Formats: sequence, structure tokens, C-alpha cells
Amino acid sequence: MREYGDEHRIFLQGMMCRGIADYQEILKLLQCVCVRCNLVFPNEKKDQARMLVHIVQQINTKLDPLGLLIDKVIDEDNKARVTYFGLFNKIDRSQEATELTKKAMVNYNPGELEFLKLVVENIMDNEDKELESITAINLSRHVVSRPFKALEAESVIQKLVDDQWLKRAMDKSIRLSPRFIGEMEHYLKENFAEEIHACALCKKIVIRAVLCNCSKAFHLYCLASGDETKESQRCPKCKFKIELPNQGIVLPSRSQAKKRGRKTDSDSSDSD
Ligand SMILES: [Zn+2]
Ligand SMILES: [Zn+2]
Repeated sequence: MREYGDEHRIFLQGMMCRGIADYQEILKLLQCVCVRCNLVFPNEKKDQARMLVHIVQQINTKLDPLGLLIDKVIDEDNKARVTYFGLFNKIDRSQEATELTKKAMVNYNPGELEFLKLVVENIMDNEDKELESITAINLSRHVVSRPFKALEAESVIQKLVDDQWLKRAMDKSIRLSPRFIGEMEHYLKENFAEEIHACALCKKIVIRAVLCNCSKAFHLYCLASGDETKESQRCPKCKFKIELPNQGIVLPSRSQAKKRGRKTDSDSSDSD
């Protein structure tokens, strides 16, 4: 592969169109790029991964002066490492309160962005870092720049979900998506320092953390080592046995201890 050629340009174009894509889609993109540029697309998965890393690194060298970066993000709500690649704007926009993701979100008008900001603030205030659909919709009443009705709020949420800025959990509750977290890391760190954690294993930020009694926080996938079937894991710090939820949810230590206490008496944890 050349230092910077058509393959890089076409791959970057693909990323600009998509914004974010899961790993399978990224491999398909890479395969298309190879076909168009007469390059051999490797058969082996590990060689495909190596080629992907290589092309992304080369493109990132060019993007760096523009404050852009193609980066890997992992869905917080899975034990398996469900990986996405996104094109992110890395310029610190933590101060631009109402200009949330302005560059990346030209498709949204100021009222919609203000609405998104309210949704994000309320997600971050929520203990489980999620909002019921109806609660999110009702926030539209508080949009000052351009009040809109519930029906419209619903379609704005759908648009944000379709563009992968927000995501819907199985129970339809609204959560921050890997794309939002990847793009808005600075904003989240600056404005919600109290509500977010750094994962004790990978050191990256985690919104819907799994918490241990010793106050260490983890990504669900880090604690499960990417193993979908894993049901519990000892805390690497204090060796406390942490039950792994099926979807990444914050487990406040006390309620977890209570739950465990109800399930079994064999656990001789201290009585509080
Ligand atoms: Zn982690
Ligand atoms: Zn611990």
C-alpha cells in the first residue's frame, strides 16, 4: 500500500459518508477500496485487521492537522467487544454548549441541537445513564429557541437514533451511542466530570459503567474480557466477585450487595 494514494482517498470518502460504521461494514468498505484500486484483499481475518489498522493510521496522519481522527469505539452495553469505526472531530468543543457537535451535525437546526443537549444532560443526570422515551420527548417543552410538539420531538429522536448520535436500548430507553461518546468525549469530561468514570482496565472514559464496591469502574466488555458468556468476574483491584449484567448498567455497590444477599446466604458479606 502506498503512503497516500487512491485507496486512502476512497476509504476516507467512505468514512465521511458513513460517519460511523460497525466492523463488518468497515471491512466491506476496505474490500471495495481494494477492488477499485487493484489491491489484494486478504483472506485471513487477522490480515484484514492489520490492513485496516495500517490504512487508518496513514489517513489519520493526514487528518491530524484538521483536528479529525478515524477511531475505534466499542459499544458499552455488550460483554463482547462490538466495535465501530467513526470519523471524529477531536477539537475541544467543551465550551460550545449550544454548538454541540456543530460541524458533524449540519443536518440539525438549532432547536433540535438544543433539544439534544437537554436529552444528554438528563441522561447524564440519570443514575442508569438512560431516559425513557416519553421523558425524552417531554423535554422538547423546555427548548427555548424553538419550542416543538411531542410528535416532532419523537421524529427528532428517531433522526438522532438513525444517525447514531443516540441509541435505543432493548427496552426502548434512550442512551448515548458509541458515536456520541467518541465525538463528544471532551464535552462529557468537561461538563459531567462527576457522572463519568475512567475504566480501571483500559483507562478510557465509561458512561454506563459497572461499578465495584471498591469504587473502581469498568466497561462491561473490559470486565468480561469480551466474553459474552461470562456471568461474573472478580474485581482486578479488590477481588470482589462482580455479577455482570447482560447490558452495561451502573451497579451501585449497595443495591448490588442487597441483590446478592437476597439470592444467596452463602455469601458472608458484612452486614450494613
Ligand atoms: Zn475499559
Ligand atoms: Zn473492587
